[in-house]
Amino acid sequence: MRVAVFSTKTYDQEYLDRFNDSYQHQLIYFSAPLNRDTTNLTQGFDAVCAFVNDEIDKETLEKIAANGVKVIALRSAGFNNVDVDAARAKGIKLLRVPAYSPMGVAEHAVALILTLNRKTHKAYNRIRENNFSLEKLLGFNLYGKAVGVIGTGQIGAAFCRIMLGFGCRVEAYDVYESDDLKDRGVVYKSFDEVVGAADIISLHCPLTPETRHLINAETFARMKPGVMLINTSRGALIHTQDTIDALKSGQLGYLGIDVYEQEEALFFNDHSESIIQDELLSRLMSFPNVLVTSHQGFFTKEALEQIATTTLKNLADFEHNRPLENEVTARG
Ligand code: NAD
Repeated sequence: MRVAVFSTKTYDQEYLDRFNDSYQHQLIYFSAPLNRDTTNLTQGFDAVCAFVNDEIDKETLEKIAANGVKVIALRSAGFNNVDVDAARAKGIKLLRVPAYSPMGVAEHAVALILTLNRKTHKAYNRIRENNFSLEKLLGFNLYGKAVGVIGTGQIGAAFCRIMLGFGCRVEAYDVYESDDLKDRGVVYKSFDEVVGAADIISLHCPLTPETRHLINAETFARMKPGVMLINTSRGALIHTQDTIDALKSGQLGYLGIDVYEQEEALFFNDHSESIIQDELLSRLMSFPNVLVTSHQGFFTKEALEQIATTTLKNLADFEHNRPLENEVTARG
């Protein structure tokens, strides 16, 4: 297939090329994101390959359909950036990578917890300046703490297993409960109960109309004072201004985010010579108890391999009219 690959980074090209020998797709790489302003790049392509911050709304879909695109292969599991109904209306098939090393994202959530708690990022910088003081590096034991998990799908389940290993009490909320996790010691409760009792809350549910701003001023008010909030799922699960207010009041004691509501304008790119115009993100980064990473939860060798192989196979299945096992058929 002739495929226009959008939002390409060096590592995307390296991994897709590495596994393309047995497929022989014609992959044309664009660093530009796919959105309504870049659809002209899809002329002459049957397929596009897109990532999490490409804006595949109704207008984009209408334009790429007019250019002859018949299939979109997402290099991601989440598809909240695609108007699924509009894709269906235009007859464009939507394929995704349902899981790529969920352990990698879960482990990154744990990295955020450990860094925020034990302040290894501060210790690293201090010691490089011959400052061996322990002042202001005080952490707490994870052992015995209550960890609240929202969403126990592939990533949430992996996260639960790790936190159980630390000796935490793991309580969870999901619309579907996992018997396997229950057997391992996870206790399912209502959303309000989980959020109200946790010392650490980690979000692992998808972004949908129901979960947008799931964490807001009202939810913060019900949490334990000084709680730690971790979000490796999607930025818009939390209301950013309310989060800033909760940090200012001390109600929120620690925040670790790998995703941000307006991340499209910044994440995945080097802006080190630019003036950041995003006041909310700048304010968030000014807090000493906030850790922001740039959507790197997925970024392991194992995940890149799985993303590449599944994406190439998805495209081949479409090309050869085989059953599309990774087709997105309904809103998330
Ligand atoms: P999954 O589909 O396996 O699990 C999602 C779980 O959320 C399911 O168990 C589902 O029942 C549950 N859920 C749905 N609505 C809910 C609600 N309102 N309240 C509570 N639970 C709800 O997905 P996954 O592979 O575990 O991924 C979870 C999310 O992680 C994805 O949606 C994506 O946004 C994000 N993600 C982030 C990265 C990263 O690099 N940071 C990488 C991959 C995925």
